[in-house]
Amino acid sequence: MNEAFDVAIIGGGPAGSSAGTLLAQAGRRVVIFEREKFPRFSVGESTLPAILNTLERMGVSEKIEQGGFLVKHGGEIVSACGQRVRFYFRNGFRAKRPTAYQVLRSEFDQILLDHAAESGCEVRQKTPVESFGIDDEGVTLRPGNGKQVVQARYVIDCSGRNCLIGNQFQLKRRFPHLRKFSLYAYYEDVRREEGPNGTLTRMVRTRDSWFWMIPLRGNTTSIGVVMDTEKFKALKMSPERALTQCVAEQPAVHQWMEKARRVTDVFATGDFSYRNAQLSGDRWLLAGDAAGFIDPVFSSGVYLALLSGEQAADALNMALDRPQQRAKAFRYYERRIGRVLDIYLRWASAWYTQEFIEVFLYPKEIFGLVPTVSAVLSGNEIRDFGMRWRLCIFHVLVALQKRTSKIAPKLTLLPKAT
Ligand SMILES: Cc1cc2nc3c(=O)[nH]c(=O)nc-3n(C[C@H](O)[C@H](O)[C@H](O)COP(=O)(O)OP(=O)(O)OC[C@H]3O[C@@H](n4cnc5c(N)ncnc54)[C@H](O)[C@@H]3O)c2cc1C
Repeated sequence: MNEAFDVAIIGGGPAGSSAGTLLAQAGRRVVIFEREKFPRFSVGESTLPAILNTLERMGVSEKIEQGGFLVKHGGEIVSACGQRVRFYFRNGFRAKRPTAYQVLRSEFDQILLDHAAESGCEVRQKTPVESFGIDDEGVTLRPGNGKQVVQARYVIDCSGRNCLIGNQFQLKRRFPHLRKFSLYAYYEDVRREEGPNGTLTRMVRTRDSWFWMIPLRGNTTSIGVVMDTEKFKALKMSPERALTQCVAEQPAVHQWMEKARRVTDVFATGDFSYRNAQLSGDRWLLAGDAAGFIDPVFSSGVYLALLSGEQAADALNMALDRPQQRAKAFRYYERRIGRVLDIYLRWASAWYTQEFIEVFLYPKEIFGLVPTVSAVLSGNEIRDFGMRWRLCIFHVLVALQKRTSKIAPKLTLLPKAT
């Protein structure tokens, strides 16, 4: 039997759910194919205030609020040698949203996917899409056992790092300097401050790695370490032993974990940043990690997934209503999402340089640089001229630090108890 939809979406993560919800709410016939049965585990708990814009447009804010996730006020960046800086979303340049959430992704993603279904999407779980065909008229998919043929006028690839279309069309550009590997687990009884400071995502930068410590609801904390893939291979250890050793070597992490107990397995994931050279074709769009995956250091993944899902829905609503406007709508999508991907790519690359971390950890209270940096860390798209020139100054300071080391004191990044 053949079935026909306006839009088929591959993947029911945040990108697929936001795209599906907004298309279905506009009256489109939408099907979402999801390989797994939700709830399913996913890493990526720390979110940015900018996601609240998309959640509001989707009409799901209240359900997320009722989910009881920890309200997050900002972040803290610490060097292994003891320098520390905290930023609060409320202090961001022209900040509109003072908070975000630290979420259990299994629950968060389920709320979003259920909401997509309630908004009118047909959601088919445990239904992987392995192959597809695209021609001038639309797209043909054979999901699940392949017996059924599904046709749609457009497809959005939201398959995450599985990157179905990007791989098939060989669009992926990888970044060799961001060939990273992460080890992570959940812990209970990690020490936590009272009040808003106890909600901050804490990042600890060492000479050749960095840690995240993300407080979650109750007394659970997600802790992970990111290092070069080559370093992990050279350790020649199991993920459990490697994570334990990495933590033990860093007092800035370990001193918070004296009473902590690990309550999950240790997970190991390659996180190689990439970006697809093209984000759209005549009949397809890429959203979320399927468009590009940027090192998780600035917690941009869920934000980019929701924003690109939302923008893909806008582009397709335009293309479905006025086919002659399709090329323009898709070009706008490419430019907008491409620009945000590039900003975080630049910041993630900079994070691994010594000069960036030195300037970052000795913030200059001039020209509104601190609020501008806080705004980037909140998911501001930097479309405002006032922010753009301030960011240029920040990058000039980083470049000067590299040449002269006179902008900020040098950091050893060697372990030191604080
Ligand atoms: C180590 C690590 C730490 C991270 N930390 C953070 C963080 O703190 N904050 C943050 O914002 N982001 C973080 N991220 C990134 C974040 O998890 C992702 O950017 C986000 O999940 C992307 O959402 P998505 O909807 O694009 O993809 P996903 O959430 O991956 O969803 C894709 C869905 O597609 C399904 N799928 C895949 N292939 C198929 C197929 N063939 N057919 C049907 N379904 C398919 C999958 O089952 C999955 O449910 C981290 C990532 C890593 C690797």
